[in-house]
Amino acid sequence: MGYVNGLKCRECGREYPVDPIYVCEFCFGPLEAVYDYKNIKRVLTRKSIEKREKNLWRYKELLPIDGEPQVGLKSGFTPLIKADNLAKVLGIKELYIKDDTVAHPTLSFKDRVVAVAFTKAKEFGFDTVACASTGNLAHSVSAQGAKAGFKRFVFIPATLEQSKIVASLVYEPNLIAVDGNYDEVNRLCSEIANKYKWAFVNINIRPFYAEGSKTMGFEITEQLGWESPDNVVVPCASGSLLTKVWKAFKEFKEIGILKELKTKVFAAQATGCSPISAAIKSGTDVIKPVKPDTVAKSLAIGNPADGFYATQVVRETGGYGEDVSDDEIIEAMKLLAKTEGIFAETAGGVTIATTIKLIEQGKIGGNETTVACITGNGLKTQEALLGHTAEVHHIKPNMNAFEEILEKIAD
Ligand SMILES: *Cc1c(COP(=O)(O)O)cnc(C)c1O
Repeated sequence: MGYVNGLKCRECGREYPVDPIYVCEFCFGPLEAVYDYKNIKRVLTRKSIEKREKNLWRYKELLPIDGEPQVGLKSGFTPLIKADNLAKVLGIKELYIKDDTVAHPTLSFKDRVVAVAFTKAKEFGFDTVACASTGNLAHSVSAQGAKAGFKRFVFIPATLEQSKIVASLVYEPNLIAVDGNYDEVNRLCSEIANKYKWAFVNINIRPFYAEGSKTMGFEITEQLGWESPDNVVVPCASGSLLTKVWKAFKEFKEIGILKELKTKVFAAQATGCSPISAAIKSGTDVIKPVKPDTVAKSLAIGNPADGFYATQVVRETGGYGEDVSDDEIIEAMKLLAKTEGIFAETAGGVTIATTIKLIEQGKIGGNETTVACITGNGLKTQEALLGHTAEVHHIKPNMNAFEEILEKIAD
């Protein structure tokens, strides 16, 4: 009863039925869901959406499931915050924060993709789910998999932040820490996915999983009053989120929900892992894999699966890509916190620092509407800030001591 006609290879266009498969057998291109937009247009309108519950499933006809949503029923529809304080500091008129640090069970945008992947995994009849993760996906698969009753295998690089490891372990998945970086974890997982009949959310059911990211784009336009912004800045790991935010805008245009589409899409990366922004800056679409070395571990994918497609979107929309140093990331996390009261993880620092750079370069105009995608909560990566925060005022429990400090603070 869904609206997906089948899967299609992004490279050669060959078509496949709806199955837990992800690459074209002929050209090894990635597969993508193909929708019946004609019929979706009949049921999915601004009016019908507005009547629905405020979660990510309010756009369900544009998500690749056949039956009713089964996972993530309380996830999504995160706030779009008008960031006037931060806009003032940056010297631009209109800045919005798409705030995915809240309103998700595990406080990152990965709950979007997992909600869709798990609903599809149930439709396919899987009893075990798995993932290769840079941290946030591990949380979401562990937590939502517990609630949904799946057996869970979660693979991470062993060097992940301690707080990210604990925040997975509490849900008691089978957590496998691999001696190697994400790209090595991912390669191992591809082999495992070939041998075991598990739903690897970002491998064999990736075409369904990835579509969940579109809900961030749908929400942005709805929350802007059914308009697309002039600019959107998206942090990139594999590059998937960036391509899907753009796809969401295009689909809303296709079915008549958006009258006009004018958005430029900008890619944000950490300099210590910037294969996508490097390709954009040097004017090529050839992604040169790198060995990641950055404080932004959630974005540390050196060989990004959707890197090529991300560069295409950036070029097609007239956007750009930039990258920022670890120091700039930390400063931007602090700036977002002290201007807007939002504690983002390192990836959020990447987005804000990149936005600052793009404004300085004149690539983002002062009179335009810009949305910065903040994708994960700072409580998960507190290590990154150790030694970089303001100091604690430590006193004895009496008035004198307090007033002594007060005088110092006032200076
Ligand atoms: C996974 C992740 C991203 C980017 O994901 P893509 O692989 O590019 O889709 C961005 N921010 C955070 C916090 C993430 O965990």
